[in-house]
Amino acid sequence: MTATVGVLALQGDVREHARALETEGARAVPVRRVSELDAVDALVIPGGESTTIDKLLRAFDLYEPVRDRLRAGMPAYGSCAGMILLADRVLGGIEGQQTLGGIDITVRRNAFGRQVDSFETDLSIDGIDDGPLHAVFIRAPWVEEVGPAATVVGRVEGGPAAGRIVAVRQGPLLVTSFHPEVTGDTRVHRLFVQIVRDSQG
Ligand code: GLN
Repeated sequence: MTATVGVLALQGDVREHARALETEGARAVPVRRVSELDAVDALVIPGGESTTIDKLLRAFDLYEPVRDRLRAGMPAYGSCAGMILLADRVLGGIEGQQTLGGIDITVRRNAFGRQVDSFETDLSIDGIDDGPLHAVFIRAPWVEEVGPAATVVGRVEGGPAAGRIVAVRQGPLLVTSFHPEVTGDTRVHRLFVQIVRDSQG
């Protein structure tokens, strides 16, 4: 059965995620309303600005429906701002900023600081074979604390941020600080589509 994966289409690289998902054999559909959410097996939350996506989720009456689906076990992949939205706790948020939650981590927004605001590096992810991934970070968060329910699957491997946690998995939820949709390497999406298929039994 082909997995239908929604891409939250409020802000960010919606097309690039959809293309990567299709390359990996999923059917990708944009999600902007509840009826569209109801029709998907899983959801990708792209990067962008987590504060804006938080506000738009409410404006589109999607905040509670998405949160409820996550609580009911819907697989989800969040990149950058999407990682922030799937984190249970956020540091450096704006007043009143909320997350959807789901992954037992604390993330820090814009964590890498001005000098390394945006950067690229190669790193490896547990569960992804065939060599390192090229990771593109754009005003990215990092994971500052990982609770017992979550598993670290990737860290920065060199430079001033070496050792920082940038990829985490918890059951059917996957998050990365970086943007795999901009590199043409679809192995992160392959891993996520496999997670979706596994969740379908
Ligand atoms: N800095 C952004 C935020 O806090 C995330 C940046 C991104 O998604 N590229 O939401």
